Amino acid sequence: MISEQKFDVVIIGAGPGGYLAAERTGARGKKALLIDKDKNLGGVCLNRGCIPTKTLLNSAKIFYTSQNSEQFGVTVSKAEYDLETAMEWKDRVVSILTKGIAYQMKRHNVTVITGHAQIIDRNTVSVEGKNYRTNNIIIATGSSPAKLPIPGINKTHVLTSDEILNIKQLPAKLAIIGGGVIGLEFASYFSMLGVSVTVIELLPEILPDFDKDISSLLQKSMTNCHFKTDATVKRIDEKNIYYVKDGQKESIPVDMVLLAVGRTPNVSDIGLEKINLNYDQRGITVNDKMQTSQPGVYAVGDVTGNSLLAHSAYRMGEVAVNVMFGEKDRMRYHAIPWVVYTYPELSGVGLTEKEAKQQGRKIRVSSLQMRANGRFLAEHGNEKGICKVIVDADSDILLGVALLGGVNSEIIYGAATMIEAELRVKDIKEIIFPHPTVSEIIKDTIWEIG
Ligand code: FAD
Repeated sequence: MISEQKFDVVIIGAGPGGYLAAERTGARGKKALLIDKDKNLGGVCLNRGCIPTKTLLNSAKIFYTSQNSEQFGVTVSKAEYDLETAMEWKDRVVSILTKGIAYQMKRHNVTVITGHAQIIDRNTVSVEGKNYRTNNIIIATGSSPAKLPIPGINKTHVLTSDEILNIKQLPAKLAIIGGGVIGLEFASYFSMLGVSVTVIELLPEILPDFDKDISSLLQKSMTNCHFKTDATVKRIDEKNIYYVKDGQKESIPVDMVLLAVGRTPNVSDIGLEKINLNYDQRGITVNDKMQTSQPGVYAVGDVTGNSLLAHSAYRMGEVAVNVMFGEKDRMRYHAIPWVVYTYPELSGVGLTEKEAKQQGRKIRVSSLQMRANGRFLAEHGNEKGICKVIVDADSDILLGVALLGGVNSEIIYGAATMIEAELRVKDIKEIIFPHPTVSEIIKDTIWEIG
């Protein structure tokens, strides 16, 4: 009986952090138990995040470019967007990939069970009345959409990112509360389809963690969206959203509202108090080996509150497994690439100019317009875009890169490799980039440094 089995590791949560940790454990010939309350493996990323959003975004991009390609000699007389078919394709992609994870688990001899897991003690996890014994626990319970206590927030037309991925009809007027990464991705999706989109952001600018020159250029590039920054939402009713901007009460008509004000780590109802674990509402405290305050208990992914990205969760899962089986490893956060999948895309890695200055570093910064790049000009014409690099003035080591324009998410890992390897300006100048590619803009911007 499974309930009497003992495992080398019990993993709670089958998102990217959890399922990759299970796979890596199995690949070592060790016994892993993977538990998720959802029978579809893959967590938020696969079921309600990265993959469904990118599938839908792609359909909107095809629709949008088909209507905006006269400059390139292409005129489409009648493009139509069929939401039902786009949603069906999204569901098919998710279904193929969740099955793929189930297959990978089988291949690595991982035992998978469905149910709500509760930690009983450091060596016991219970699922619906059955106890599972283990030497190690990995908590990978992820995060959920954050809520705001605004009057009207519980109305049926106010949705989170979970629900908006399953709508049956496009809204005519959509308000998005929150100008962060998730809010902007949806703003891009809906506005490319012709929906009137207004992003309402509390702070003076969207994407407040990024350099203002970049975030304001992105805002200008999202020509079909309206932005209300420095604006506080006060109330929502069936027809309008009410907010205060510059001390003035304003409202706009809406038929759908997306609440995209961040994510909350899933720390409740797992039994963390039973093992006296250090955590708060920002997440479970971990060191760079993904160890928590209790020996043999690890936490990875969004639940740590650090770097809420699927690829960070993957790496954290790997680090936890390596460390628990005696291998030297640690999580490094300084070279994790990030992408805002708007159209145009914005990606980056390393320090922003703002962060480098806050750290008191002496830096050299250079920027180049994307249209200086042959491939970009050919494929994107006069679309706005920029490449910005930040270099340490004392050591000449590359500290940060940001790319805005076109589709650059496939390029940014190259810059991440340079930062991880602590390459200097002179090293990067010697790298040969394929021509013509948009990636060459990184080298050209580096040359501008001198
Ligand atoms: P999750 O993926 O959150 O999975 C946690 C799992 O734990 C869930 O399946 C849940 O059911 C399970 N669970 C929780 N509690 C229990 C319990 N007690 N018992 C059993 N099971 C439990 N990141 C990117 O890198 N790129 C993107 O493009 C991207 N796009 C996104 C788009 C959206 C709309 C959203 C919301 C997120 C996006 N993210 C993206 C973020 C990414 O989805 C998360 O960083 C990632 O899913 C975190 O993985 P995780 O393993 O920590 O947990």
